[in-house]
Amino acid sequence: MTFTTRFAPSPTGPLHLGHAYSAVHAHDMARAQGGTFLLRIEDIDQSRARPHWEEQIYEDLAWLGLTWDGPVMRQSDRMPHYEAVIDKLWDKDLLYPCHCNRRDIQDALAAPQEGAPIIGPDGVVYPGTCRNKPRLPNHMTAVPTDCALRLDMAIACGTDIFERLIDAPEGGHDIAYFEEYGNGTDTPKGTISFTPEEIQRTIGDVVLARKGMGTSYHLSVVLDDAAQGITDVVRGEDLFEATRIHVVLQKLLGLRTPRYFHHSLIRDAAGKRLAKRDDARAISKYREEGASPADIRAMVGL
Ligand code: GLU
Repeated sequence: MTFTTRFAPSPTGPLHLGHAYSAVHAHDMARAQGGTFLLRIEDIDQSRARPHWEEQIYEDLAWLGLTWDGPVMRQSDRMPHYEAVIDKLWDKDLLYPCHCNRRDIQDALAAPQEGAPIIGPDGVVYPGTCRNKPRLPNHMTAVPTDCALRLDMAIACGTDIFERLIDAPEGGHDIAYFEEYGNGTDTPKGTISFTPEEIQRTIGDVVLARKGMGTSYHLSVVLDDAAQGITDVVRGEDLFEATRIHVVLQKLLGLRTPRYFHHSLIRDAAGKRLAKRDDARAISKYREEGASPADIRAMVGL
């Protein structure tokens, strides 16, 4: 299968050095293998996405000398696809409505019978408050949009996904790090393996549709990677934990699991990883100050 990867920024701020690192890595890997490099704009959060940030993404990538293949995929154009999957999962009772806010979750976790909260890929693992509330069978009601929809992981674990997870090579999924990959030894460094208990305890009931949004980052990214035929995901190690959710969702939805390469992160002088608000390290800022694309590659060590 042709190596196909993607860069998937959200147009919610300027691209900074960390994005440049990720994009250049993915692009160069694809080009080195005669593969395909795709671009996807992750703009499901319309309250934060802005057209001028999207324009700037195209400009910055072109300036860096990166070319992408085929049309750009925009998540905001794909809402019907996400909704169709949500409908299906809803009808199968795999989702339940959740009205908790952050505060409710903190309060539930503070109850004396609860042990120490477990931190999962999305913060504290949801204590399940809304899971057991009485409600009609899902197929008798329309999919609610005034609240979040969570995956009932216990039910999901009862489906045949575990057979499929265990079918993975040596019982797990290879997860590589770039430090090794880039240096010529492309042996995957880590393996993600699963048991139903582990998934329920450390991931729990993830939100698959955020309130008023009809989808979530996790659901969209999994569906889009499948739709774009991504064979290799190149992303920062900050998403390592999220990858575990993505592999579970792929199994649940019967989608192929790509290979994952997690690269190290570009940090500031204090060792903190760069965030969108670190405008000082925006690629456009360096450009204005006269830096060349080669300077940017050198700054991120590529
Ligand atoms: N939009 C996400 C980001 O900018 C996508 C990363 C991914 O899923 O690989 O962090």
